[in-house]
Amino acid sequence: MIGSKSKTINVLNKYDYRAKKKFGQNFLVEPTIIKKIVEEITEGSIIIEIGAGLGAITQALAQKAKEVIAYEIDSDLVEILNENLKNYGNIKIINEDFLKVDLESLLNFYNQKVTIVSNLPYYITTEILTKVLQSSDKINKIIAMMQKEVADRFTKNKKGKDYSVLQIMAQYYCDVKSLTKVSKNNFIPTPKVDSEILIFEIKEDYKKIEDEKLLFDIVKASFSQRRKMILSNLNNSGFIINPQQLLDIGVNPTSRVEQLELEDYIKIYEVIV
Ligand code: SAM
Repeated sequence: MIGSKSKTINVLNKYDYRAKKKFGQNFLVEPTIIKKIVEEITEGSIIIEIGAGLGAITQALAQKAKEVIAYEIDSDLVEILNENLKNYGNIKIINEDFLKVDLESLLNFYNQKVTIVSNLPYYITTEILTKVLQSSDKINKIIAMMQKEVADRFTKNKKGKDYSVLQIMAQYYCDVKSLTKVSKNNFIPTPKVDSEILIFEIKEDYKKIEDEKLLFDIVKASFSQRRKMILSNLNNSGFIINPQQLLDIGVNPTSRVEQLELEDYIKIYEVIV
């Protein structure tokens, strides 16, 4: 199997390949972690993997899934992947920037819900999760590894300076739980920080809202100037709402984003819609 330390070092040496920082390349080299990821997928599932790297997770997924569509931006890695995974008829490697993929069309192609798996490239964690969550109706689960500090924002609902629209989106669409923490020593090259794998289970009944785009436009507007009051942020973004209307739904008009929960945004939406 590809995902052991010795095998990874062999592959890197064989192809004289050096991990590229600009693509956030840290290769997972701990088989027990890969096993835990595979245990989370169901037999016969369709998997989209984002950032296949050297194929450590890809190969293990293919032994259980019906099909693995693996995206990798780095064409040098794609050559290695094609060679090392050539015996797997159910792996499709695509050399493309996942952020440019027409995900809706891809998901529409399958007549079952798809599972997303990624040891996320850290520099685009937010963009990828946002993109994937916007297609929640065609997805059943996201298994995503990210920096521990970023994972904390989802599991502990932290509202510090990095509090984001994505946290609200995740609360709306998913039940989030931690699968396991992953020490930085389980990667080649060793990153500066530890990681954690989270499971974003898409809620069956998340569709509480008719116009989700409007809901998240309201959330985005509220976050537009984080230190300003929600009320002025909403008004400045063209949403017509007055202090009394906020008071009527139990929201203090002088609140800042840190003081509001998903339920508050849903109430504001109901006033505006
Ligand atoms: N899955 C492998 C593993 O666990 O060992 C590699 C994980 S590494 C943290 C992230 C991978 O994502 C790298 O291989 C990198 O080249 C790839 N990547 C970075 N940006 C990408 C993008 N926009 N689209 C697709 N792949 C990307």
